[in-house]
Amino acid sequence: MNRPVVVLGATGSIGTQTLEVANLLEIPVVALVSRRPSEALQALAHRYPDAEVVVAGGSIDERESMTRALGKVVKHGPDAILDAAATAGRVVVNGIVGAAGLRATVAGLEAGNRVALANKESLVAGGPVVTAALAAHNGELIPVDSEHSALYQCLLGEPSDSVARLILTASGGPFRGRPRDSLADVTPEQALQHPTWAMGRRITVDSATMFNKGLEIIETHHLFGVGYERIDVVIHPQSILHSAVEFVDGAWKGHLGYPDMRIPIQYALTAPGRMPGPGEPFSPVGLDLTFEAPDREAFPALDIAFAAGEAGGSAPAVMNAADEMAVEAFLQSRLGFLGISDVVQRTIAEVDWRELETVEDVIQVDAEARSVAAGLIAGVC
Ligand code: NAD
Ligand code: MG
Repeated sequence: MNRPVVVLGATGSIGTQTLEVANLLEIPVVALVSRRPSEALQALAHRYPDAEVVVAGGSIDERESMTRALGKVVKHGPDAILDAAATAGRVVVNGIVGAAGLRATVAGLEAGNRVALANKESLVAGGPVVTAALAAHNGELIPVDSEHSALYQCLLGEPSDSVARLILTASGGPFRGRPRDSLADVTPEQALQHPTWAMGRRITVDSATMFNKGLEIIETHHLFGVGYERIDVVIHPQSILHSAVEFVDGAWKGHLGYPDMRIPIQYALTAPGRMPGPGEPFSPVGLDLTFEAPDREAFPALDIAFAAGEAGGSAPAVMNAADEMAVEAFLQSRLGFLGISDVVQRTIAEVDWRELETVEDVIQVDAEARSVAAGLIAGVC
């Protein structure tokens, strides 16, 4: 506890909530990492004068002007990010969006650090690589994703042969209940209206298509070593039950609370201990909790993800890369909403399956899938 924290994706939804939790717990923040120089990053850097500031890219002009404004060097590039994650004795909160977060997750684990993982894409794209790094070094991987934090806590102290099923809950997103043919013309603005969580743009669109739950199925498999036939999804629009475990005797253990990412973020910092939390006390009184089966025809992402997970190897990395490209194209109105799952499915079919053993293998297949997906997207414009 109270090891200094590195915040990857510091300007994002997870990053800013991590900083809130770190302040509350009086945990020092030693590094702020973001995609590029921005006013938001500069404001954070002023608030944490002792933290190093690292960006993945941005122009030389942007970096120099930020260096002048801060009176200290703004480090940049992948190696600078890896140095921040791989300095021993730190907790690395990975709130980067996309497969770009994989290297830092592996570097943090290899350095023996605790990685508080929001970046589910690390496990989706590089599951075998991340689990090997976890097994070979004395790092720790604690999930931040609310469903996985819930499952992690429900599984504590339970022998693995007592577990029958892991049940992931999903809000169903803004288009829950709508038939597939009514989704052809939905706009980015409509897809960005998440009913229960305020999050970054990619994960919000992924919640509307249900690819987010698809990614989470694969994340669950790698985190808990459970076969896909024992992972289920149930729609729960209120996002109060964050997920549940069914045991062989029929008992269920679930994790409840208001939708507030600061709680799983804090748990990933304090686990296995707990500290007083940031949110209002939870009360179930007056809550109307409902559950329904997902509509797999309107939202094919679930079946695509189960199939990619079962195929293993490169298939989940290809699925994720194609989805990243398709979501970006949808947000720029270059692709329709239903085109997202089409592009993902066709990219998986087109990229040759292979085993993934190293981070470089993942990066290569990720690049290949992006190029195939870009071609497919250009073809439908
Ligand atoms: P976001 O878009 O709000 O923020 C993303 C952050 O990553 C930004 O700070 C951005 O500058 C940084 N970033 C992007 N590319 C980068 C790169 N190549 N190198 C370094 N930094 C980079 O996204 P978010 O909603 O905070 O989501 C972050 C991750 O957490 C995603 O994997 C998402 O699936 C996961 N997650 C988010 C939530 C949530 O409530 N927001 C919940 C569960 C899981
Ligand atoms: Mg989640």
